[in-house]
Amino acid sequence: MIVILKKGITKEEKDKVASTLKDYGFIVKEIVGENDTVLGAVGSRHIDPREIELLPGVSSVLPISKPYKLASRELKKDDTIVKVGRVSIGGNRVCVMAGPCAVESYDQIMNIAEKVREAGAVMLRGGAFKPRTSPYSFQGLGEEGLKYLQAAGKAFDMPVVTEVVSPLDVEMMKEYIDMFQIGARNMQNFELLKAVGKTGMPVLLKRGMCATIEEWLMAAEYLMSSGTDKVVLCERGIRTYERATRNTLDVSAIPVVRKLSHLPIIGDPSHATGIRDMVSPMSLSLIAAGASGIEVEVHNNPEKACSDGPQSLYPQQFEKLMRDIEALCPVIGKTLEKTPRIIPESIKEESADLTTSSQDETIVAFQGERGAFSELAARRFFSEDVKVLSCHSFKDAFDSISSGKAKFGVIPVENALGGAVYDPLDLIKIHSELKVVGETEIRVVHNLIGFPGTEIKDIKKVYSHPQAIAQCKEFLEREMPQAEAIPFFDTAGAVGFVKRNGDKSIAAIAGSPAALYHGMEIIRQGIETNPSNYTRFYVLTREENVEGFIKGRKKEKASFLFNVSDEPGALMKVLEILYQKGLNMQKLESRPIPGKPWEYTFYVDALIPENTDFNETCREIADSTVGFRLLGIYENGIL
Ligand code: PEP
Ligand code: MN
Repeated sequence: MIVILKKGITKEEKDKVASTLKDYGFIVKEIVGENDTVLGAVGSRHIDPREIELLPGVSSVLPISKPYKLASRELKKDDTIVKVGRVSIGGNRVCVMAGPCAVESYDQIMNIAEKVREAGAVMLRGGAFKPRTSPYSFQGLGEEGLKYLQAAGKAFDMPVVTEVVSPLDVEMMKEYIDMFQIGARNMQNFELLKAVGKTGMPVLLKRGMCATIEEWLMAAEYLMSSGTDKVVLCERGIRTYERATRNTLDVSAIPVVRKLSHLPIIGDPSHATGIRDMVSPMSLSLIAAGASGIEVEVHNNPEKACSDGPQSLYPQQFEKLMRDIEALCPVIGKTLEKTPRIIPESIKEESADLTTSSQDETIVAFQGERGAFSELAARRFFSEDVKVLSCHSFKDAFDSISSGKAKFGVIPVENALGGAVYDPLDLIKIHSELKVVGETEIRVVHNLIGFPGTEIKDIKKVYSHPQAIAQCKEFLEREMPQAEAIPFFDTAGAVGFVKRNGDKSIAAIAGSPAALYHGMEIIRQGIETNPSNYTRFYVLTREENVEGFIKGRKKEKASFLFNVSDEPGALMKVLEILYQKGLNMQKLESRPIPGKPWEYTFYVDALIPENTDFNETCREIADSTVGFRLLGIYENGIL
């Protein structure tokens, strides 16, 4: 049952409710949601819910209609995010786990780990205990394999996931791995589920090849009722009459499970298809369907692989797949999970093993109210739970980064439809102590947001930022001609305004995080005229010791500014240098210089080719211009 607590419940009252439930033999879990706090109580006893409903501090008691309780969406409305080391799985993130079917040798796993990490995988897979159809097939290296897997995970900064096949191995395996995998063949091995659940560690639960979705969620329930909350489901294909592929990938299981359960769900396109060339298209279909990631087999020498060679991707195929996934993510409003790219040195020293709690100390400033698109961008770049500082104006945001109140700032510089955002460009020039250390882009999806139950025809006024109103003009004219569009300072702020106003005849246009933050309802999603609406952000800091570190990323990007003297061909000279050095210019923007009518500062973003002496390029540009400043060199975050 779900016990919904009153907003003002005291700690004593809550403890009393929990202990009463426990006395009845229930397992009790507290779930703090956006809007209310509930206690989930599961067990075999049937009691009269009124006994609980009458306790002080209890608002109401609801039954959970599904046989799985802890795993059910009825119990927990928000998506569960499972943390494995520094990697987060769930919600709108896309997490890629890759590696060989089986760990075959130290060199093999090291080699593959390096390749998948370079391409962008965030977790490493590799079986040490292989449940094989034939007793004569390779059974895995056992504990020896776990040692190699652990070493590769540590060397390339990836948490590791591996299959457990026996309850007797659980204790031993705990020491080597970050996440247990329960294989398809063991999905209903209840003793194994209980033993693994008891560890409290993250578990990847494959769907049994003949299991219904309900049976699969019941297996998750076994894990959760035994003691772990960190369950990730994995669709890996089911047995059907079709023999063209090894199994039949049930893509529709993804949206079905997302509706039924709060647990993250990923897909395994390798075991689903059994055929290398079908792995990439199925990976993309899983992600497009809403999966929070994939687990995919990659081998450096698949022809010689001890198991599942025919379905293992070559490293180059995996790299191509990663690029396709990266391109797909923003289109469907997802973020590709990456190992954090920027770690300030100060934080590095404090914590050797960089847990997420050390990340929490990073404060990131953005302009706008909570729930703004800039906040979304900040979370995309850093992490979902990074601490953010909402700043009223761009000037306030820059001042916070400058003063050290925030270590970083995530600031918009251009929109694909609206062009440059001028204030930040002007402020960057004034704040010469700041540098650009990264960039990110988000797809801007506008929503009509109002009070729950509001009907479009009843809305008289719509508030939003003028740009957002302009971008939704067609929808407003077509679907709600009766409503007046009223400009507001920012999109998320408009949602806050509507909420405070309490009037059901007004609504706002903003991104979905603003609706979530203010507990308002999305009345209509994706109302922008042009869906190719992206905003690009600079990541700024004044920290000296910041290291950009995804190794092996090929494209580096630089941003710089300069003024030119008032003579023919002055800008041409700079362009000539860029051309000679093979720099691919991504943006050229000009801004007037205050106090010097008709003189301009130019802002350039350019990709730096490999093996270029970029310092030399900078010197040459500086010699041909006035006031040259390198704003930063960083990893290219745009595709
Ligand atoms: C595996 O991932 O190595 C594996 C054996 O998968 P499944 O249990 O889905 O067959
Ligand atoms: Mn395999």
